Amino acid sequence: MSGEQGHLFEDAPWEADDAAEALVATLVFPGPLEGEFDYLVPEPYLESIRPGRRVEAPLGRGNRPVIGYCVKIETKEVGERKLKYLSRVMDEKDLLSPAMIRLTRWIAERYLCSWGQVLETVVPAGVRTQAGTRLAKYVYVNDEVRALVRKAKKFKLPLKQAKALKVLVESDSAITTQELARTIGSTQAPINSLIKKGLVETEKRRTPPQSVQVAASPQVENLPLNTAQQTALDAIVKALHAGEAATLLLHGITGSGKTEVYIRAIQEVLTFGRQAIVLVPEISLTPQTVERFRARFPQVAVLHSHLSDAERHWHWEQIASGEVSVVVGARSAVFAPTPHLGLILMDEEHETSFKQENAPRYHTREVALQRARMEKIPLVLGSATPSLESWHRTQTKEYQLLTLPHRIHHRPLPTVRILDLRRDSASKSASGAISPLLAQEMERELEKGGQVILLLNRRGYSTHIQCPSCGEVLTCNHCDIAMTYHRQDDVALCHYCDHEEKVPRTCAACGFGGIRFSGLGTQKLEKEVQQRFANYRCLRMDTDTMHAPGSHQRALAAFREGKIRILLGTQMIAKGLDFPDVTLVGVINADLALHMPDFRSAERTFQLLAQVAGRAGRGDRGGRVFVQTYSPEHPAIQAASRHDYFAFADQELPLREALNYPPFGTMVRIILRGPREQQVARMGEYLKQQYEQAAETVGATIRLLGPAPAPITKLRDKFRYNLQLQSKEEQELRDTLLMAQEQMDREKSLPDDVEWIIDIDPMSML
Ligand code: ADP
Ligand code: ZN
Repeated sequence: MSGEQGHLFEDAPWEADDAAEALVATLVFPGPLEGEFDYLVPEPYLESIRPGRRVEAPLGRGNRPVIGYCVKIETKEVGERKLKYLSRVMDEKDLLSPAMIRLTRWIAERYLCSWGQVLETVVPAGVRTQAGTRLAKYVYVNDEVRALVRKAKKFKLPLKQAKALKVLVESDSAITTQELARTIGSTQAPINSLIKKGLVETEKRRTPPQSVQVAASPQVENLPLNTAQQTALDAIVKALHAGEAATLLLHGITGSGKTEVYIRAIQEVLTFGRQAIVLVPEISLTPQTVERFRARFPQVAVLHSHLSDAERHWHWEQIASGEVSVVVGARSAVFAPTPHLGLILMDEEHETSFKQENAPRYHTREVALQRARMEKIPLVLGSATPSLESWHRTQTKEYQLLTLPHRIHHRPLPTVRILDLRRDSASKSASGAISPLLAQEMERELEKGGQVILLLNRRGYSTHIQCPSCGEVLTCNHCDIAMTYHRQDDVALCHYCDHEEKVPRTCAACGFGGIRFSGLGTQKLEKEVQQRFANYRCLRMDTDTMHAPGSHQRALAAFREGKIRILLGTQMIAKGLDFPDVTLVGVINADLALHMPDFRSAERTFQLLAQVAGRAGRGDRGGRVFVQTYSPEHPAIQAASRHDYFAFADQELPLREALNYPPFGTMVRIILRGPREQQVARMGEYLKQQYEQAAETVGATIRLLGPAPAPITKLRDKFRYNLQLQSKEEQELRDTLLMAQEQMDREKSLPDDVEWIIDIDPMSML
């Protein structure tokens, strides 16, 4: 990327005279347009132009007005360069600090996407459009008038006008006419008279965004920490005072009191006037979590995905002004414009939802790491089941490891019993999805007053709609995915594109008239539970039942109060919940994630089982977990049943190392998609050649896999292929990608209906 404006603008008539030295603003444009562009700054904007503000400028031969971000200003020699003038500066305040400008640039380079696209992601739409504000007429008095009034020179004014003037003289800032009228208890007529008489000046300005009302939470006292918590806190506090970047991994088993440690660390940060960002997965933004922070800190901003643009704008301004001391939010909270950030915390750091799945495809953990480095502050990652990437970095001493090995009050972890579905399968059809032993234990716990959680990580009623005669499975017309039967609406639904259709009476392939439904989803499990445990209220929690805003909150409140005795659902129920009366957790089928075509499938299975098991036995009643599986001897399931993270890591890491998978190598996935399969495949071959050539040119050792059809071969009418690039040397891989990109940019004849996506450090392999 050069600072040159390039050949796009030759023979433009509005170029500047060749001034020797001038103020030059460097702009970056959102959208796919790559590169930085230099512009001259016209006289009226010499004062207001600043890096971090948006600017309108003419672009291209047609001088199309485009909005871009100013990323640098510099007085320099323009010489022979024919620069255009930008047209106007749009913002009165900086939207991005110099630190954020550097961070966004780093993201663009790290994830090979356009800088402008990153800027658009970092500055929320509500901030760009100033949502929730309006233009209003402000009035004020100038110093001359103020002095005259103060010297008690009499103005012969009607009462209301005199009153209004007095308010303005005493106010140090301008007031909207509306507010002034309200203050003096009149219409705007007296104010207009003052304006006409020239005593009061006016100005059009934007009102600040409407504030978001949050009920104040009663503040709660700190709990005395146990020894392990105190040791962990001491280490974090030490890092805080060192004034350097550092990453600490807090590995604490479920219920060990990690959140309490976070809260204490934040309190420490606040004592020296700085702010903290707490990153949590969206799914954990439960009222329970949010309340725990609100009860300790009066000024908390909670950034969740249901905020309106105006609310987001208001929070942004509050954060930027330093009013807010703690920001709690999902992915994008890592970009919160805190003026003096002191600490970043990331809870459940292993969660894959921290990876953004559309451009810019950043991983929040890596961005947080970089932000912490740039701002010279600590980053604390927390998890009961750390990602192997983070775990590995503790082994290589890049991260400092902190451990909470016990539950609070030394409560025991629940015992886990594996139920072998193979052995049970003879009696299975009779008993349904819940094996006889699990059913019996559920009955026992419920009778004793305990609560039960059942995990089945698949929504819908039946996951297969199949012809028993010819074996044809009903798949989506637009995707290469089996349709799921949703009984509530009596439709077949594609879980990937939401395509919905009526279930055919007869098989489309052979005409046989007896379509069969098989495979188990949460709806069917719910029906079974309702039939078998008719005396207890049960609630299903999955994305189908949790559509309405607030439904999640209501469901969890009902469970907390004990109105609901059995909670069943997808992974939504597996994480973060702290209910002391849950004495039994049942996993209906532990194998669902195990056989996914993804090198992380064992890790995901281990994490999910360990997390859901962690919901049991958090109170005095103790707890037990039953795991139904067809693969009882699988190491991930074995390790999870013993709550043994170390055993899992020790077993899994050598497998990763042998294949150069992360954390031992860097991986990049290229996804190609287009409407015609042959073209997509051909493009895949072409890309492979390009990457091979590029690797040779830069002297990189790269392992290339594919092109091959992606596990989901067709999605929303597009065929998908993928290529994988792996290397032990991250830099070599990066150089290869850049070199190939350069080569291909020169190539003009690439088919334009095949797009390809570069996913650095992919989390999804489907
Ligand atoms: P984790 O996040 O590690 O799963 P939590 O922070 O949710 O654990 O803590 C589990 C429970 O223990 C919570 O109800 C919390 O209020 C309580 N707790 C945490 N620390 C202490 C402490 N030092 N003394 C007493 N109770 C504590
Ligand atoms: Zn589909």
